[in-house]
Amino acid sequence: MFNLILFGPPGSGKGTQAKLMEEKFGFLHISTGDLFRSEIGNETPLGLMAMEHMKKGELVPDEITIGMLQNKVNEYPEVSGIIFDGFPRTIAQAESLDKFLSEKEMSISLLISLEVEDGEIERRILKRGETSGRPDDNDVSIIRNRINVYRAETSPVFDFYAEQNKSVSINGIGSIDDIFSAISEEIKTHS
Ligand code: AMP
Repeated sequence: MFNLILFGPPGSGKGTQAKLMEEKFGFLHISTGDLFRSEIGNETPLGLMAMEHMKKGELVPDEITIGMLQNKVNEYPEVSGIIFDGFPRTIAQAESLDKFLSEKEMSISLLISLEVEDGEIERRILKRGETSGRPDDNDVSIIRNRINVYRAETSPVFDFYAEQNKSVSINGIGSIDDIFSAISEEIKTHS
């Protein structure tokens, strides 16, 4: 089983690449952001609670996020691999993920980080906001907050998996196809 963390700042192309990988490798794609948006769409208590944090560009508390992620993984016991997109975003989430997987005799195989600099992220997210309908994609101050949260709380997760020799970086600027090829090469090398 191949378990990949697709890592990188908001707007680095994780969702786009995860969809391509899902098609090519048949892995299950789990995006915690998408799961939250679906809960919001269904107006569930979890969704309403998550929305309070998302609209400010802050992280949803760990306990909620971790519980939701674990439920999703448990729904698909037969998959050959999982792409974690947008999770883990804190060290606490990473620790809980490792523990949760090891209880199932599974582990993270690889973390791939898509590197994109802040100015480019801002431009991309604002462009995406023209069509995504996401309130957090339309406001520069919220976008900047998301970037700050990423640098402060999420980027240490790269080092956490680097200590396990599992982290690699890829240039996230370039054509979708070239970036996909680079990701596919890393998956092959580490399979
Ligand atoms: P994304 O779609 O990955 O950009 O996520 C959108 C928003 O959902 C983030 O800005 C957070 O508010 C929330 N979110 C998504 N994943 C997580 C996570 N792993 N931990 C905490 N909050 C998250």
